[in-house]
Amino acid sequence: MLNNIKKFISQNTGLVIRLDDIAKNMNWDMMDKCETLFDKHNIKPIMGIIADNQDTSLKLFPENESFWKKVKSWSDKGWEISIHGYSHVYKQVVKKKDIFGYGGNSEFYGLSYEEQKEKVEKALKKFNEEKIKVRSFFAPNHTYDFNTLKVLKECGIINIIDGYGLMPYTKMGLNFFPQLFYKLLILPFGIQSTQIHINGWDEEDFKKFSNFIEKNSIRIITFNQAILKINNGIFYKFLNVLVEKILKILRIFKRRGSVT
Ligand SMILES: [Zn+2]
Repeated sequence: MLNNIKKFISQNTGLVIRLDDIAKNMNWDMMDKCETLFDKHNIKPIMGIIADNQDTSLKLFPENESFWKKVKSWSDKGWEISIHGYSHVYKQVVKKKDIFGYGGNSEFYGLSYEEQKEKVEKALKKFNEEKIKVRSFFAPNHTYDFNTLKVLKECGIINIIDGYGLMPYTKMGLNFFPQLFYKLLILPFGIQSTQIHINGWDEEDFKKFSNFIEKNSIRIITFNQAILKINNGIFYKFLNVLVEKILKILRIFKRRGSVT
């Protein structure tokens, strides 16, 4: 009995490594170090690629002229290439009315259906030109509205690397892969994705990440493995709602705490 429970937990616990803000201009020294680390442990992360970066904070980093060749090489070795917005410029004001209630500004939220479709189609065109297969998306700043989801579905991008819960789930014809914490941590149960921003890292940050990977590599899974764990059972639906409520309450306290 105990062995069965242990087996169930280990089969349903895993972390997908999601790297955000991968663009032509980025911290390439850190990216190279991470790539060596991933290869050493045979980790296949999700790479959040900005199709045509116009974010001025990222443009301060050195440019890699062979960027798309690099992305293709990652794709060829089985890393998951994901669309992380078209330009990564957030102008749209959200006021916490976005799908996941994060707030903050957005690249997509509030734009018309046609404007959002144009962005997604232009991003897809770029990946197609470079012969790179994509099937997933996560918006800059986690901010979506219903038009974003409608557009993604119509464009055949049905996997969203965002959401609340302990297991990936399906809603409105799209698959959502929970991304719960800013910090790098692994829960004792459930399938989660990280959000990792390596551009601002120093040596100490990399060392911590490297130690985390060494310690937890057995529980780090691929995106393909996460897809197999999509579960729309009533028990998980209940847990997902519970996790959403708890995290939103915790965020309110965190914000209050930061004011005082
Ligand atoms: Zn981003």
